[in-house]
Amino acid sequence: MCTNNIISESAVKEISKLGRVDFNSPLSLCTTFKTGGNADILIEPFSEDALSLILPVITGEGIPFNIIGGGSNLLISDRGLRGAVIRISGLDNSFKPEGEYIYAGAALSKERFISESISAGFGGVEFMAGIPGSMGGGIYMNAGTFMGCFVDMLKKIRGVDYTGAVFEVDACADISGYRKMNLPKNTVITGGIFSLPKSDNPAETAKRVDDIIKDRWSKHPMEYPSAGSVFKNPEGHSSWKLINDSGLKGFKIGGAMVSEKHTNFIINTGSASSSDIYNLIGHVQETVFKNTGVTLETEIKILGEF
Ligand SMILES: Cc1cc2nc3c(=O)[nH]c(=O)nc-3n(C[C@H](O)[C@H](O)[C@H](O)COP(=O)(O)OP(=O)(O)OC[C@H]3O[C@@H](n4cnc5c(N)ncnc54)[C@H](O)[C@@H]3O)c2cc1C
Repeated sequence: MCTNNIISESAVKEISKLGRVDFNSPLSLCTTFKTGGNADILIEPFSEDALSLILPVITGEGIPFNIIGGGSNLLISDRGLRGAVIRISGLDNSFKPEGEYIYAGAALSKERFISESISAGFGGVEFMAGIPGSMGGGIYMNAGTFMGCFVDMLKKIRGVDYTGAVFEVDACADISGYRKMNLPKNTVITGGIFSLPKSDNPAETAKRVDDIIKDRWSKHPMEYPSAGSVFKNPEGHSSWKLINDSGLKGFKIGGAMVSEKHTNFIINTGSASSSDIYNLIGHVQETVFKNTGVTLETEIKILGEF
């Protein structure tokens, strides 16, 4: 077993009992952009208890780590990521309604959260329709649309800190912002408690969700790998309009292209590298700033060295 000399054999032995471990693991398989180099060590903990034991081992060895969920909001360097990547796919993916509340495990997909919520008689899930990835990633990003965002219905966040301690915090407006949740660094979210309104008519809720998804498919370049909207909307502006008005629709660097269907999406036309996407992001930011004086800030998370 290759350990890249960054982790001791004894640590590997211990972690292997608690999760799936892979060395030099291709992260292009873990991102919706389908780009990115290798992780020195990819770890998929089997459970929250296992995660609590794994984190002190890797921090004790002085190994830095990144956390990934569904990989739908990530641009990872072609050089990969040094140290460990904790992927949450092996964690709890349960959906547990308890009275007026719902507990959702971090590994549960948003798609399944929506369908289970509707089946259990809840509504208010329309804002999440069509957003890919895990509930953990949704909490971390405070994901959403103009219809609402995670913090509107999230009551508590459960997680494990880098020492391995399990914690629960109230999810209130104070710890959240536009596409962000202010949690301490290196905190792994393992679940959340949500409060949703009851639906008067679950069939109608399901229909609204379907209609939103159909509408998104007609407006977004779903036929290409992407990470959704690349830039946050600056106060008082729409990023897609600033990019459009700057004449960047269809602009290409290597295999990365500003989508012609939705100019806030960068798509991988088939052969894009993460560097192509990164360089295109820089070009868009520079051009929009020159044309409009507005600075575009990325919504997607950029990991590794470029
Ligand atoms: C086609 C498409 C459409 C999209 N539409 C929308 C949209 O309408 N609205 C929107 O908000 N987003 C949208 N996105 C972006 C993305 O789907 C969301 O941000 C999503 O919530 C990310 O979840 P994920 O599990 O994929 O997280 P990842 O992409 O894996 O990670 C995103 C960030 O969250 C952190 N993270 C993930 N899981 C955890 C965890 N368990 N604990 C701690 N940190 C964690 C990661 O470290 C990273 O910083 C879209 C993406 C695509 C590809």
